[in-house]
Amino acid sequence: MKYVIIGASASGVNGAENLRRLDPNSEIIMISQDNYIYSRCILHHFIGDIRTIPQLSFVPQDFFEKNNIQWIKGKKVINLDSEKKTLILEDNSTISFDKLLIASGSSPFIPPIENLRGANNMIGLKTLEDCNLIKILGEKAKNIAVIGGGLIGIDAITGLIHNKKVTAKLHLIEMSNRLLPLQLDKKASLIYEEKLKENNVSLYLNHKVSKAILKDKNITSLILENGDEIPADLVIVATGIKPNIDFLQNTNIEYDKLGLIFNAKGETNIKDIYGAGDVSGRGPIWSVAVKEAIIATSNMAGVNKTMDDFFFCKSTMNFFNIPTLSLGSIELYENDPHMIIDIQEDKNTYKKIAHKDGYIYGAIIQGDLAYTGILTQIIRLEIDITKIKKSIFDIDYSDFFTMNKNLEFEF
Ligand SMILES: Cc1cc2nc3c(=O)[nH]c(=O)nc-3n(C[C@H](O)[C@H](O)[C@H](O)COP(=O)(O)OP(=O)(O)OC[C@H]3O[C@@H](n4cnc5c(N)ncnc54)[C@H](O)[C@@H]3O)c2cc1C
Repeated sequence: MKYVIIGASASGVNGAENLRRLDPNSEIIMISQDNYIYSRCILHHFIGDIRTIPQLSFVPQDFFEKNNIQWIKGKKVINLDSEKKTLILEDNSTISFDKLLIASGSSPFIPPIENLRGANNMIGLKTLEDCNLIKILGEKAKNIAVIGGGLIGIDAITGLIHNKKVTAKLHLIEMSNRLLPLQLDKKASLIYEEKLKENNVSLYLNHKVSKAILKDKNITSLILENGDEIPADLVIVATGIKPNIDFLQNTNIEYDKLGLIFNAKGETNIKDIYGAGDVSGRGPIWSVAVKEAIIATSNMAGVNKTMDDFFFCKSTMNFFNIPTLSLGSIELYENDPHMIIDIQEDKNTYKKIAHKDGYIYGAIIQGDLAYTGILTQIIRLEIDITKIKKSIFDIDYSDFFTMNKNLEFEF
């Protein structure tokens, strides 16, 4: 069997490793535009000069040799023929496959703001190359503006704060009333807002950028919708993602405006072609990309597996050493009249849980994350919390009164 994987990141690498485990005698080829294997979740440590490129890797140095995987790196797939089962690379070479995993991920989405697209000093943070450019331009800049206060925007800002060679004034613009609007409520956001202000970051919440002012293809400032002008000689855009699916354009493989379409087994509409990770444009987080790749490659190797995770929006973060776990969309649930929202807070920890009919739909835990172990267990075992005769925040492991044959606690 000849397996080919497009992509060498969370999905590609974990998928390849799983294929090798399940099908020891197969041929496995991975192709990527990237020249390195690295975790994007810690790219801010590279921007901050805290880690070097080898320290961003999430595989051992002998990964490819040990797993007998051929890696074609630094090459882009430009075409796919699903009938002939071939891929064309940018150097016009052809690679054939028996089964294909599309794990080509995503790229930054640059919004259609006047003069933004194509400006020399505008960067969407995604790759090591983007980070190198951010460092080069950032170390010379007097003002750096980040558009978007989500996970990637705040990663960019914290990386710049840590980089001792960056002396620029930092500006963060977010159209919502809070940071990380998909993950946090206003209260959880406030902790990070205060930390950013302590680090001299100018925060513009509830503000949209309406246009960029250019001089010789370089942005010099950003104009907000209220007319305010923010000086900027580097602009980092973190306003969402778009799937890397250009090479699917002349194929009969189904995709929609979000990205590649595949089912809970990772199967696309075409036999022997599978998908996993950010390329779907749905739930673009590392853990989902890994899980989908394990499921898709298991099915490729003939082992039946189905995605069963119902929390597509699941993030952990640790900005300024304040950890937060966010599950589901709290905002969505707060608008549901049937949802019960329980809150507990003390000096160091903020816990908020949204539940309905005994089941947990969303949560924010910020500060001490010790409780998240119990919470995960309750969610995973689908425990009906109406049966618990005490506060949901007081449940501990002694409440799980028996163990099943896998040595897991049962309620
Ligand atoms: C700065 C940053 C911080 C993040 N922080 C977090 C975090 O804290 N927690 C979290 O859960 N998630 C985080 N994410 C999201 C997470 O990194 C992604 O969900 C994850 O990387 C998705 O993995 P993937 O394998 O699907 O795709 P990607 O990581 O996008 O990788 C795609 C791969 O495909 C290759 N490729 C693309 N197109 C082609 C082509 N045409 N031909 C050949 N190769 C191609 C690329 O070179 C790459 O190897 C962050 C992302 C960024 C950018």
